[in-house]
Order: sequence, then structure tokens, then C-alpha cells
Amino acid sequence: MINYERLERILQHELRSGCGNRAVINGLESFVLVWREQSLAQSTGDDERARVGAIAAGLDGYAALEVPQREESLRRVLSMLADGGPVARAPTAASQPPQTPRPAAPPAAASARPVPPPRRERAPARAAPVANLSVPVTAVRGVAAANAVKLAKLGIATVDDLLNYYPRRHVDYSALKTIDHLVFGEDVTVIGTVTEVKTFETRRGLRITDVTISDDTGAFIARYFQAPYLRQRLRPGHLISVSGRVGEHLGRIVMSAPEWELVQPDMLRSGKIIAHYRLTEGVYPRTFREIIRHAVDTFAGTAADHLPMGMRQRARLLDLPTTLRQIHAPESMQMLEKARRRLAFDEFLLIQMNVLRQRKQWQSQPALPLPGDEHALDPFIGGLPFPLTGAQQRVIDEIRRDMGQPIPMSRLLQGDVGAGKTVVAAAAAQVALHNGRQVAIMAPTEILADQHFRTFTRLFGGAVAIRLLTGSQSKKEKDAVKAEIANGAAQIVVGTHALIQDGVDFKALSLVVVDEQHRFGVEQRATLRQKGFNPHMLVMTATPIPRTLSLTLYGDLDLSVLDELPPGRQPIVTSVRAPSERERTYAFIAGQVRQGRQAFVICPLVEESDKLESKAAVAEHKRLESDVFPTLKLGLLHGRMKGSEKDDVMRGFLNREYDILVSTSVVEVGIDVPNASVMLIEGANRFGLSQLHQFRGRVGRGPHASYCVLLADSETEQSLQRLAIMEQTQDGFRLAEEDLKMRGPGEFFGTRQSGIPDLHVAQLTDVRVLEDARQEAQSLFARDPELQAPEHELLARRLAQRLRASGDLS
Ligand code: ADP
Ligand code: MG
Repeated sequence: MINYERLERILQHELRSGCGNRAVINGLESFVLVWREQSLAQSTGDDERARVGAIAAGLDGYAALEVPQREESLRRVLSMLADGGPVARAPTAASQPPQTPRPAAPPAAASARPVPPPRRERAPARAAPVANLSVPVTAVRGVAAANAVKLAKLGIATVDDLLNYYPRRHVDYSALKTIDHLVFGEDVTVIGTVTEVKTFETRRGLRITDVTISDDTGAFIARYFQAPYLRQRLRPGHLISVSGRVGEHLGRIVMSAPEWELVQPDMLRSGKIIAHYRLTEGVYPRTFREIIRHAVDTFAGTAADHLPMGMRQRARLLDLPTTLRQIHAPESMQMLEKARRRLAFDEFLLIQMNVLRQRKQWQSQPALPLPGDEHALDPFIGGLPFPLTGAQQRVIDEIRRDMGQPIPMSRLLQGDVGAGKTVVAAAAAQVALHNGRQVAIMAPTEILADQHFRTFTRLFGGAVAIRLLTGSQSKKEKDAVKAEIANGAAQIVVGTHALIQDGVDFKALSLVVVDEQHRFGVEQRATLRQKGFNPHMLVMTATPIPRTLSLTLYGDLDLSVLDELPPGRQPIVTSVRAPSERERTYAFIAGQVRQGRQAFVICPLVEESDKLESKAAVAEHKRLESDVFPTLKLGLLHGRMKGSEKDDVMRGFLNREYDILVSTSVVEVGIDVPNASVMLIEGANRFGLSQLHQFRGRVGRGPHASYCVLLADSETEQSLQRLAIMEQTQDGFRLAEEDLKMRGPGEFFGTRQSGIPDLHVAQLTDVRVLEDARQEAQSLFARDPELQAPEHELLARRLAQRLRASGDLS
């Protein structure tokens, strides 16, 4: 089955995110290369092969293109993809000759046939020692060709995929709550009867569908946004189960966009624990459960365990067959927990293995040691307008020591907003300059690059040749800078990540500093190595992540933490306000503008949907402009704008062309607008505390007293209490921990700025499992880094598979 959809998704993502070639790790081309190979292997005819070839060719040389050309080629390829039509273009499983004896055949026989495993091109060319499950999903009883097409939309092509398609949650039907027992703030599943479905539109143009659900004890509303089709799907009298967080609106119980499923009466009677899956249109929960049941019955028992026996025993883990049975059809909550633990272990182990491999690869080539004794930095530090904090001093020492080694540094510098990371980076740069080497500073966007360019120029004065290289410069300017980079005249070069890609050749690159985007560092290392560079690397992030998590997720990087803010920082006065105080807040903003200040207004998150969110922001901008602040100048920033448009707006705001900037959550992390003094966040209860903290960090960057106002659009005790922590602390790490405690980890990291690989089963709060997996990974890696021992073969294969499937696990 050719996965056009995944390609399409990635291309759309790339397009949306401004064509920065960051939608997948290692860049689009390497993804397309793999996709092409896989697809050719799966093509059923010459036409199909030609089509695949043409699509892949459409993205040739992508990395070397400028943004407008990138956009053009993306659009061209996307339209090629769209032309095929969603179903017609996918060769159905039916069009392939049946490759395995169907239903009753024992799975061992299935694997004895020379079935080409669907994702074989990069898998180790070794034979599976036992029955493997890489047979088409049609081998499962009850899966006809038509079903297979739909399953493919879920990324399920083989039996193995199917068994590893884990439920997103389980509902224990023997322990359900009645509506009168719902508690605000709790995550629950409730079953009731639909009694009314009502649709209406809010002032801001959001279409809302309210579904009233009742049982013998009471009623509540499940509220959905922009989902008018629910009127067709849900009718009074339907028995429905909804899962979500219990909220409140004007004294009534309201669940905001809970997941729902129609319930069959027999599910209730069974009193069992039932798995719920994330499904796609046309795949019904009941059918899917049936299919899974057959797959588990027939195949789970023969699933070859990729964890070596010893490891399983040490970590007290279930074996794979039991795990698969219990995750899909648990016999008890205890067994379910054990299965989940085993799968979480697997997940962490694979992440760790990969991270360790990355580190080893990075360090396998020597770096040029850049010695600098204790006093080498004295003149630089003495020239700063302020004394360093203790934390800055300590971290600079760590970096200096790293850079003196013949092994390339790979260090993550974590520090809260405003902790002073830039000066640390400048000190590292100074070490390289001291040794006559070049430095590249990379920022995720042009505007941040601009900002760094100005800061560095200020810090180093005229003594150092600092250059800026960004996409919006004229070709002539760029060529001039490139020439200076090549002949070594440019000592520090600041730019976007194009800096290390677009035919830029450094004469003596020895340090790369990457700001504000954690994935960036990992992602670009391969590129650097391909170019023959093995520089020291410093990655900086303001995302506060508790230490255990960093160790696992960024285990390839050494960690430095700036845990001390420079003295004399004015705290940003933060207040949580009820929606009824909105007018007062507007008056306050108007007052600040009269004093010459500027303000940000952040719009609420809308169902994690860029499109709806942008739409809401456009509406809010219009409303504020015409009804609230008719005499002020308002700018607008949202995720559907092109990268260059966003840069223009940000620049305009920086230059005071706007008094107020209305923005979705895309507002730039790390950008300094010293004149802005108010940050108003609408729907603050929908954001994680960490994200609110990042927004708040956008103000208070200048000499002015600054304010952050959090407007909640729900007034439940719980949400107000959670927000109240923002009033009490300015400590990003503490807020991150609170986030982890109070919200699920998925929510904490589900927000857009996270750079953390998706976890399917594991939760970041599974600290014990995480530690176990980390230990096992380390000792395994020490013994058999390439996983060449026969008992590690299956594990190696899982690792390769996971890397390919996610394309971004690192
Ligand atoms: P971030 O860690 O968010 O990138 P910056 O590096 O932008 O923070 O620093 C924030 C502000 O603090 C800058 O204006 C910088 O000049 C200032 N700063 C940095 N270090 C110190 C210090 N030791 N003492 C006083 N001010 C400092
Ligand atoms: Mg910064």
C-alpha cells in the first residue's frame, strides 16, 4: 500500500510551517528518497511506478531552493497528489494477489511463503528467526480488501501494524460514574442518552454544537466547536459514551469537545474493560474491535519478542504475546497496567538507543580542540556591561572545557526566558575566535536571526567581523557574505538554518550555536558531517524540561542549566481575571498605549487546529480594531500566514507601526520587543502553564514595568486555581513541573512548541520505567552498540522500523 497520505501530510506541514525544510528530520529530500524506495517496492504497475517517480522528482533539490521556489514545488507536488483522488490512487490490497493463505492458516505457514515485507528496503537483510507478522493485514479474518484500504489510512498495512495499533484509552464498564457523581476538573467517561442537539454561532463566528446527554441522575452538555455534522450523527435517543474533562459554564456541567462513541447495549452488559481506538472515517469501532480480536487470537501468540529474555526479567516485564493480548483485551486493570508498562518500556528503550547512537555517531569523528585557559575570556567578560551571574559563569566554564577537547561538544543549554543565554553563547563564540576559528549562530526564523545579529554586534563591538545571512537578502548581498564565509573574513555568521545548507562553505567552522529550537540541533548534525565539518555544538532552549526527561529525550546532549536570573529583573505583574473584567483590561491596555507602550493579545487555542485558530484570530483582530480600539493601530499574526508575512508583521510591531499585536500561539518565542509592556492572553485556561510562561516572557524585556493578564474563558475553580500559580511564580521550571502534575504529559508536550517525539503509550511521568529503560539501553549499548548479536536482531529491526515509521524520532 503506497502511503501517499503520509507524504501529503508532511508536505502540507512543511508548507504551513513556512517551507523551512524542517517538517522532517534530515530534510524533505531524505524523506522523499525513502518514500520513493518504499513506494516503488509496493507499486503494482508501470503507471503507478511512473507516478511515484514523478512525484518524488518534483522535490529534487528542495534544500537548495529559496523559500518561494520551495513553496512552488510543494504546491505542484501537492496538486499531483490531489489529482489521483484519494481512493483511486491507492492500489488496494485487493489488487495484489492474495499472498498469504487466508483465515485459518497457521501464521508460521504464512511467513514461509516468500512474502515481500512491505517496508523492507532498509531492514537488515536477515531472515526472521520466527514467524514474523509482516504479512498484509488481509491475512486477518474479517479483513476484506475494502477494509484494508480504510485501515491503510490509519497507517495499518500489516498484521504487525495492526497489533501495534494501541488503544488510546480503555473504559472499565463495570465502574462507570453516573452524571450526578461528576466532579469538576476530573477526566471521566460517562454514558448517557442523547436528548438534544443544538447548533448556534458565537459573536466571534465560532459555530458551536451542544449535545445534551442525560441519565437517570441528571444531564450535562457536551460542547463541540465547528462540528455541525454532529447534528446528522447524533440523534435524540442514541446511547453515547463521552470521555473528557468535566467543566462548567454558567453553573451547568459542560464537557468541552469530549471524545464520543455510540454505545451498543451489549457493551454495557458485558461489564468488561473495553479498548477505544483512534479511528478514521468509515472504520467503525465495533468492526475494528472485531478485527483486532481476530488478529490477537490468531497472531499474538506467535509474536516474536524483540526484548532479550534477560532484559525482560530484570525489568520485570510481560512477554510480548501477553502484552499484546492485554493491551487490546485486558482481563483486569492490573494486567492492563502491566501491559502498558511493558510498552512504555519498549518505547523509552528505543528512544534511548537511538539517542545513544546519535551521540556516538556525532562523536566518532574528532573535533578540533579549541583550548582556552581560565583567563582567555577575561577581556571579553570584563567588557560586558554587567557582571555574569554565578550560573552563567559555571556554564561558560563547562563549555570552555568541552571545547578544549578533541571530541565535538554536544551540549544543551537550558535556561528560562531572560536567563541570559545569549551572553553564554557569545562567550563560547569568543573561545572559537580566540583560536582563529569561525562561528555559526543559527536561529529558527529570520527575525530572531536579525535580533541575534544586532545583539552580537553590540557585544563584540567593531573588533569582530559579524555577518548576517538570511533568505530575504538580495542575491548580491548573500553572495558577498558567502564569499567572506568561504575566505574566512567573516568570523561570526548569524542566520537561519540555511546557513549550513545552501551552498555555504565555511573556511574554518568550529562552533555552531543553535537557538530556541531543540530539534534543530539533532537534525542538522548529519548535514554538517556530510559537509565534512565536525564542529562543537551548543543548542539553547527555553523550554523547561525536568531533568530526568531531558536525560532520556536529549541523552545525546550534555546538559547545562542556567538556573539563576540576572539580578534586578522586574517581575512581570501577572493577574488572572474573569471574562467579566475584559472591558477593564482593554481600558488598561489603552492607558499603556497612551504612555507610549505596546501590547500583545494572544487568542485562545482552538482544538489544536491551525486553520480554525487562525480564523478566530482574524475575527478577533477585526472586532478589536472596529469595536474596541478604533483609534489604535492593530497588527495580526497567525499560523496560516507565510513565513515572510509573519516576519514583516513582527518587524512592524518591533518598529512600533502597531500599538497592539493580535496573535495566535505562533507569536515568536525568543523575540524581544522592549517597548511592549502588556501581554493579554485570552482563553488562558486552554494553554499549558509552560506555554503561558513563554508568552509572558515576551514582555518585560525593556526598562518598563510590565504586565501579564490571563483571561480565562471558563470560571471553574480548577482552572482558575491552576492559573493562579502564574501569579505566584516566575520560575519556568516550577511551572513545567506543575504542568506535568496537573495536566497529562500529552497535554504538556502536545503544545506546538515542543520538540519532543510523540509518545504513543509511555507517559513522561512514568519516571521509574524511564529510568529502567535508560539503564538497560546504556548497558545494551555498551555491549553491542550495533545490535549485531543474534539475540538483538529483532530489537535492531524494531529500532529501524520505528525510525522509519516516525521519521522524526530523535
Ligand atoms: P534568554 O536566555 O531568554 O535568551 P537573553 O540572553 O536575551 O535571555 O538575556 C535577557 C536580558 O538579560 C538581555 O537584555 C541581557 O543583556 C541581560 N543579561 C544577561 N545576562 C545578564 C547579567 N549577568 N546581568 C544583567 N543582565 C544580564
Ligand atoms: Mg534568547
